[in-house]
Amino acid sequence: MTTADNHRNEDVPRWDRCEFARRMPKVELHVHLEGSIRPATLLELARRNGIALPAQDVAGLRDFYRFRDFDHFIQVYFTITDCLRTPDDYRLIAYEFGADCARQNIRYAEVTFTITTNIMLTGLDWRDIMTGLNEGRTEAQAEFGVGWGWVLDINRNRPETQGETLDIALAARERGDGVLALELGGSEAGFPAELFAQTFARASQADLPRVPHAGETAGPASVWAALRLLHADRVGHGVRSEEDPELIAYLSERQIPLEVCPTSNICLGVYPTYDVHPLRRLWEAGLLVTVNSNDPPMFGADLSHEYRVLVEHFDFAPGELERVSLNGVQASLLPEEAKAQLEAEFRAEFARLRSE
Ligand SMILES: [Zn+2]
Repeated sequence: MTTADNHRNEDVPRWDRCEFARRMPKVELHVHLEGSIRPATLLELARRNGIALPAQDVAGLRDFYRFRDFDHFIQVYFTITDCLRTPDDYRLIAYEFGADCARQNIRYAEVTFTITTNIMLTGLDWRDIMTGLNEGRTEAQAEFGVGWGWVLDINRNRPETQGETLDIALAARERGDGVLALELGGSEAGFPAELFAQTFARASQADLPRVPHAGETAGPASVWAALRLLHADRVGHGVRSEEDPELIAYLSERQIPLEVCPTSNICLGVYPTYDVHPLRRLWEAGLLVTVNSNDPPMFGADLSHEYRVLVEHFDFAPGELERVSLNGVQASLLPEEAKAQLEAEFRAEFARLRSE
């Protein structure tokens, strides 16, 4: 980090910094496809597929999304996924995801998808689901120039699906479906990493990167377990690492990226307010912090919103915003050459935006 990055840019008014944050090129590394479906699209899919939703309009859906407890949150996820039925539904949500990235100048993403829940609820073969998703991805890439890959996650609450998830991830990677990594989501506290160690060891042996959620609803022990038992290349959230100085030193030394999603943490009650959120402290400790949205419409917070939060609640200067964005490039699973190219594009665009 340079001195220029560090210094709070008093001569750049907050409004300008917010505008810069909105327009700058970005990378999104922690976002769930099912949690990104536009509410209006969800209502349309439910109507088309004859599914009864607990709400009939966008306002009602927002109310249904409002956090009560983590079990309700998981129930919401099931309800959303239950509205998807055909390969064309998957094409549509992937295409709209790409359009939403373009609107925020997100140029590259790594997108989590819970394949086994979708198989269970649709009865479709995984190949048909992946084909639908990739049709939408290809259309979006052609129309908007946004690229992304898939991260398949195991739902902790259904440990019995872990072998199937990994088998599909490996077969889909083989098939050229754009699968990049294995992830672990769901209730951290009741379903510890130990239950999944063998599957993640198998992923490691097969050279499939591991990016489990840890240190969100459970403390540092969960992050240690993700590192030691799940061979995590990157940690989803990881914010509660702050509670263990030894862990902070470990993460900093090895530059293991954290996928921090500030507004999601507030909405899910991990921290009561931005004031006590550890993002700035993790940043100052030299960790490789990336900033992400998690489930944009569910928290009313897309990635542009989160970059604005960096300005408004964490007082990030333009140089620091650029560093956050470049951390996303660095922490991505892109090949080194593609990272270098993306970084060069971003730097050129930062310079152009700054000169305006
Ligand atoms: Zn997540």
